[in-house]
Amino acid sequence: MTPVTITTLGSCGAWPEPGRACSGVVVEYDGAAIAVDLGWGTLPRLLTHLRSPTAAPLAAVVVTHDHPDHTGDLPALMRARWYAGRDLPAVPLLCPEAVVVRLRESEDGAHRSCAHVFDWLGTPDAATVGGFDLALHRLPHYVDNVGVRIEAGGATVAVTGDTGPIEAVVELGRDVDVFVVDATDRHQRQGVPGPPPGTPAYNLTAAQAGALAARAGARRLVLTHFWPGNHRERSRQDAAAEFGGDVLLADEGLTITV
Ligand SMILES: [Zn+2]
Repeated sequence: MTPVTITTLGSCGAWPEPGRACSGVVVEYDGAAIAVDLGWGTLPRLLTHLRSPTAAPLAAVVVTHDHPDHTGDLPALMRARWYAGRDLPAVPLLCPEAVVVRLRESEDGAHRSCAHVFDWLGTPDAATVGGFDLALHRLPHYVDNVGVRIEAGGATVAVTGDTGPIEAVVELGRDVDVFVVDATDRHQRQGVPGPPPGTPAYNLTAAQAGALAARAGARRLVLTHFWPGNHRERSRQDAAAEFGGDVLLADEGLTITV
């Protein structure tokens, strides 16, 4: 059977650590690829991984929300396609409107590269692109935000993007083979400025990620979106105390095969 692979492009929330990148995952099946988030530092890794200077195998891009640790390299993909891959078909782009509004602001002068390079689909509940069935789930964050379930070749993968600890995370990850979950663990960084008191939790701890993944019945858990400088092994241990299956730490270049 043709395998489905999940590769981490970047593992940092907020900003990239030395040698790393911000949020980004690529899911591949049968020669086609879906990128979920393209934060700072992810595009060179995506191009290298796909062995294409224009990311030609991309069947779609999903961007969870309009924060630069998830969108920073999207304008770079637009330029690569505009200048070096203009004959390629437009890539379906699933994302909240704010993402595409900002992307248009980074067009070169009068060029309408955004509409040429991307086919913006908004955030439909479901979509089928290039052999992948996608389902988008609204999740709470500081801005409009979605998680995504991706099914292909009999495998199911889900990616949260950033989220608070709510029941919708369990639904997103229900019975998936691989669940890629926000584990910002901001509490590890004493003294880091946080949101104003009374703000709801809009990111997860690794322990919450583990507990939600366990309730979802996910088979494997991948923790990601680590606050820069975090002790990742401690996050793994916190999640493993809640989740009985394999707990993996996202790491740039890590590929999981289902
Ligand atoms: Zn983030």
